Amino acid sequence: TTLNLATMLEDHARKRPNRTALIFNDMRFNYAQLNAMTNQIANGMVALGIKPGDHVALSCPNLPYFPMVYYAALKVGAVIICLNIMLKPREIAYHLSDCDAKAFFCFEGTAELPLGQMGKAGFDEAPNCEHMIMLTTNPAAPSPIEGVKTLGQLMYNQAPTFTTHPTKADDTAVIFYTSGTTGQPKGAELTHANMFFNAMVARDLAWPILDNSLDGSNVVLITLPLFHSTGQTAQMNANIFAGATLTLLPRFEPAAVLAVMERDKVNLWTGVPTMFWALLQYIAANKIDPTPIAANLRLTSSGGAPMPVEVMRQFEEIFGVRVLEGYGLSECSPIATFNHIDLPSKPGTVGQPVWGVEVCCVDDAGKPVPAGEKGEILIRGHNVMKGYYKRPDATAAALQDGWLHTGDVGVIDEEGYLSIVDRKKDMILRGGYNVYPRELEEVLMTHPAVSLVAVLGVPDEKLGEEVKAFIVKKPGAEATEEEVVAWCRDQFAAYKYPRLVEFREQLPISATGKILKRELR
Ligand code: ATP
Repeated sequence: TTLNLATMLEDHARKRPNRTALIFNDMRFNYAQLNAMTNQIANGMVALGIKPGDHVALSCPNLPYFPMVYYAALKVGAVIICLNIMLKPREIAYHLSDCDAKAFFCFEGTAELPLGQMGKAGFDEAPNCEHMIMLTTNPAAPSPIEGVKTLGQLMYNQAPTFTTHPTKADDTAVIFYTSGTTGQPKGAELTHANMFFNAMVARDLAWPILDNSLDGSNVVLITLPLFHSTGQTAQMNANIFAGATLTLLPRFEPAAVLAVMERDKVNLWTGVPTMFWALLQYIAANKIDPTPIAANLRLTSSGGAPMPVEVMRQFEEIFGVRVLEGYGLSECSPIATFNHIDLPSKPGTVGQPVWGVEVCCVDDAGKPVPAGEKGEILIRGHNVMKGYYKRPDATAAALQDGWLHTGDVGVIDEEGYLSIVDRKKDMILRGGYNVYPRELEEVLMTHPAVSLVAVLGVPDEKLGEEVKAFIVKKPGAEATEEEVVAWCRDQFAAYKYPRLVEFREQLPISATGKILKRELR
């Protein structure tokens, strides 16, 4: 079967050319314009020598260039690898070499994030990557770095039409790199079918609730980085597939998010929990009236990390919308489970498997555990990757009989709802007892002085590990560290309450919005 992810864009360009596809600041592109520019880039790629099956890397924040280069590479039949924009030159060189990129498209960056310079330094250390193309804010401007071609030059005089390569459904479309908390980052290879079906699932999860879905007037705000699986599939691909309007924000910043939500009458927004949390903080501190935003906002969803029930409750109350939590991982395109809109939602759970996906929890011997018992989460279905690029051993360890071993611990209840207990590797082993940080974090979030918390194990001579909570206090909160420890002693069994508490001004947060426990460690 031939299947190319980029056809979702072409189809709307043909049938609904005048519909707005992208908004960025005061720029607007309709579906025909977005598709035509994508075609020009695809022609430029071919002129450069990019062929079906070649690998193309992209380093770009959420700017209109992102979907253009992304779909252009797919149209050519190439594999697209989107790099985390926070990578340093050494890491860029590693990724370019590891994924065998033939060409590297890189945004020039800004004064505070000089992506172009860092990209060039990384490119120079990746001898097998043949071409670097600079994406400049002004496409007509000369290249800011000598010897590097700009996207404007690549597109110059190229035709706005292109015949999309008929890739096969199980040809690789994208490679997502894991963030490398457990060793060198590995590239998860996802096929056109993986990515297509997962985008379809994501579209169908959100769209039943949106008004006016037939005239395509829905506006989706994208703050999750597009280089990451959730932003790419659940936000960009799902909503291009839906023919919606995507409004892009390159940096998550509460004031800007709220301003764009109001300006563009945003109907749908997806974030990671720290984004929901930051919006709530900002609204409270600045006494923002949510009414004009709530008038248009129909639905929000969260994934990528555990959503504290308290944050979800507050957000739902302030905006009068539901926050639907899902679960997934890059190796699964990423969506595996979701709290479906038409079914009773169970806060604290990540819902039920999405269409075509099976989930089970197994014990250490690999045997399924009964409902209500903890086990490692295994996933099988159309969303599961081919494997890790050029890593047969890691692939064999992760994929057995089609089941992906996630490294997450979960519980499935009698009704089939999954709860994430924690990551296997985040579990704390204190004096022989297993302690799951997530459970402690949920309860600590209900403490009146606690705004944000991360619990982890720190080395302890006697016990192996001791439980420690890093806490950001609510503004003006009075509590002392000793008081919080004392409070915890009343809440939790003796073997697991955090005996160490440290207040911090903030917690380290990754480009994808997750709390970086490894840095706290
Ligand atoms: P790694 O360090 O393994 O590369 P990553 O965060 O970069 O991690 P992703 O694929 O982005 O990798 O994240 C997937 C992980 O995020 C899941 O395995 C799970 O641990 C966690 N996760 C995703 N959604 C949820 C959720 N709703 N609740 C709790 N944890 C979640």
